[in-house]
Amino acid sequence: MKVSIDMKSGKIAETSTKDSIAGIDLGTTHSLIAYIDNQGQPQTVKTGDGKQSLTPSIIHFDERGQLIVGEVAKQYLISQPERTIFSVKRLMGKSYNDISEFRSSLGYEIIDNDNDSLVKINVDNQFYSPIELSAEILKSLKIDAEKALGTNITKAVITVPAYFNDAQRQATRDAGKLAGLDVLRIVNEPTAASLAYGIGIDRNQSMNIAVYDLGGGTFDISILHIEDGIFEVLSTHGDTFLGGDDFDRAIVQYWTRILNLNDIKLQNDAALGQSLRIAAEQAKKAVCSHNVYEGKVYDYLLKLDESTFNELAFSLVDKTIDSCKKAVQDAKLAITDINKVILVGGSTRIPLVKERLSQFFEQTPDDSMNPDEVVALGAAIQADILAGNRKDILLLDVTPLSLGIETVGGLMDSIITRNAKVPHRAARQYTTSIDGQKNLRISVFQGERDLVAHNRKLGEFTLRNIPPMPAGIPKIEVQFLLDADGILTVKAKELRSGTETSVEIKSAYSISEEEMAKMLLDSIRNAASDVNQRALLEAINEANNLVLSADKFVVQNASILSKEEVESIVSLNGSLKNAIKNQNKNDIESAMQALNVYTTPLAHKALDQNIQHALKSTTIS
Ligand code: ADP
Ligand code: MG
Repeated sequence: MKVSIDMKSGKIAETSTKDSIAGIDLGTTHSLIAYIDNQGQPQTVKTGDGKQSLTPSIIHFDERGQLIVGEVAKQYLISQPERTIFSVKRLMGKSYNDISEFRSSLGYEIIDNDNDSLVKINVDNQFYSPIELSAEILKSLKIDAEKALGTNITKAVITVPAYFNDAQRQATRDAGKLAGLDVLRIVNEPTAASLAYGIGIDRNQSMNIAVYDLGGGTFDISILHIEDGIFEVLSTHGDTFLGGDDFDRAIVQYWTRILNLNDIKLQNDAALGQSLRIAAEQAKKAVCSHNVYEGKVYDYLLKLDESTFNELAFSLVDKTIDSCKKAVQDAKLAITDINKVILVGGSTRIPLVKERLSQFFEQTPDDSMNPDEVVALGAAIQADILAGNRKDILLLDVTPLSLGIETVGGLMDSIITRNAKVPHRAARQYTTSIDGQKNLRISVFQGERDLVAHNRKLGEFTLRNIPPMPAGIPKIEVQFLLDADGILTVKAKELRSGTETSVEIKSAYSISEEEMAKMLLDSIRNAASDVNQRALLEAINEANNLVLSADKFVVQNASILSKEEVESIVSLNGSLKNAIKNQNKNDIESAMQALNVYTTPLAHKALDQNIQHALKSTTIS
C-alpha cells in the first residue's frame, strides 16, 4: 500500500498502489477528466474551487512563450486573441485546405500555406501543431486529476466524436502519448454517454437508443442497440462543423446586421469580434433559460429574446434533425423502435432542440444527467472495463465513413463500407494496367462520394518491385485492417510472384514514435520549407530505388540487351545519380522519367525472352 499526505488537511491519505485509469472527454469547448471512486462510481475531477469540472479547451501563450490552459487562458480571448488558442479540436488531423472555410473565424494565426500538409498555428513565430496543443490540455487535466486523487495517472481512455475520421483519431491518440498517457482506447463519445446512463449494465436489457450530442463544435447522432450487455452502434451521422459556436455566430451575424457593423470593421478589430462572440454565448444561455438578454460591447447595445433566437437557430437545429432521420434509416429502424433518446453536450440545453427532438422521436428525451459530464463519466466506466473490473460488458463500434482506394479514372473503390463493425479486416485484389509495370501507387481515401477528388485523402504509398509481367497479370491484394480504435492499417502484396512485398501505412497525418519525439523540437521550423524538403526526400528515395533496380536489370539481362542498350541505360542511370547528388527535385524527376521511358520496352522484351526460354525448357523436358 502506498501512503500519501493530504497537504490541505495534513492527514495521511490512503491510496491504492494501482495507478488509476482515467476517462477523458477532450472537447472542442470544454474538456474534463473522470475516474472511478472507491465505491465503484464514476466521478468527474473538480478543479480550481472544487466545484467546476469543466476546463475550457483554451491555451494562452505569454510573451515569453509560457503557456497556460483553461479558465485563466480564456480571460485572454478578448485582450490577446492572437496568442489565445480555442477550438483546437477542429484542427486535429486537418490540412490547410480542410480548414480554408473557417480559418478566418479564429482569432489566432494559422500558417498561410494552402496545401495538403498538416495545419500549424503561429504564435510569435513559434509554430505549434494541434496535436501538441491538445497534449497541453491533456497534461493540464492529468495534473489536476493527480492533485485531486493523490495517484499517478498514466493510462487513459479518450473520447472522440463518432464522426471523427482516421486522421483525427490518430491525432487524438498522438496527443495523449505526447501528454505522457498510455491511451488504452479511443472511444466514440455516444458510446461513452450511453454507458454513463447505465444502459447495458443489466444483461437482460434489450433496447435501441439514440444518442444526440450537440456540443460546442461538433454534432453527432448515433443509434445504438444494446443486448446481452453488448453495445452495438447501428449507425452514426453528424457534422464536425456544427455546434454551439454556430449558434453564437448566428447571433453575432444578427447583431452586426441590425447594428450595421460591416465585415471590414470586424476583420480589423479582432477584439471586437471576440467580445461579440462572448456576448452572443451569454445571450444564448440567457434566452435558453427563458430570459431576455441585454448587454453592451463598446458602445453597442445588444439585445436578444427567445423568439428571435429560435428563428436564428431554426435551420441549424433542422440540420441535426435531418441527420437523425438518416441515422434512423441507416440503422434500418422505425422511429417507434427507438426506446430511449439521450442528450449529450451543452447545446442540448437549448429548448428548441428538446422540442424538435421530442417531435421527431415521438418521446421526451432523457436529460436526467448533466449533459456536460456524461461523456467523461462514460469514458471512466470504459476505462474500468478495460482494467478488467467489469467483465460483463463488451463494446462494438462501427466506422462512420467508407474507406477505400483510388482506381482508374479517379474513382473511389470502397473496401470497408460505412457502418461496418470494428475491428474489421477486408481485402480486395487489383492488377496493373501497363505491361512490365514495376510500381503501383495506392492512394487511400475516406468518404462516400464516387470520385476520390470529393473524398478525403488519408495517405498513399507505392508498392515497389513488382516483377515484370504483362498488364493484368499481377495479383495485388490490398488489405484494410481497421482496429478497435478506428485506426486503419493498409497493406499491399503481389500474390502471384510470392514476393513478400507488403507495405503499411496508418494515416497520412499520423506520426511514428520517432517523429513524435522530434516534433517538440521541430515546432519552430518553417512549414513551407518542410513541405519542399519532404517532397525532395521522397523523390530521392524513389530515385535511389530506381538506380538500384536499373543496375540490377542490366546485370540480370546481359544476354538479351544489345551493347547500345546497355550503354544507354548506364548513361541515363548516371544522369539520375548526378541529379540525386545535386538534390534538385525537378531534375531528379525528369531523370527518373527518362530512365523509365527507355527501360519499360526493354523490360517487356526481357519478359518475352524469359517466357520463351521457360516454354522451351518445358517442351524439351
Ligand atoms: P464540446 O463537447 O464541444 O466541448 P460542450 O458539451 O462543452 O461542448 O458544449 C459547449 C457548448 O454548449 C457551448 O457552445 C455552450 O455555449 C453551450 N452551452 C452550455 N450551456 C448552455 C446553455 N445553458 N444553453 C445553451 N447552450 C449552452
Ligand atoms: Mg462534447
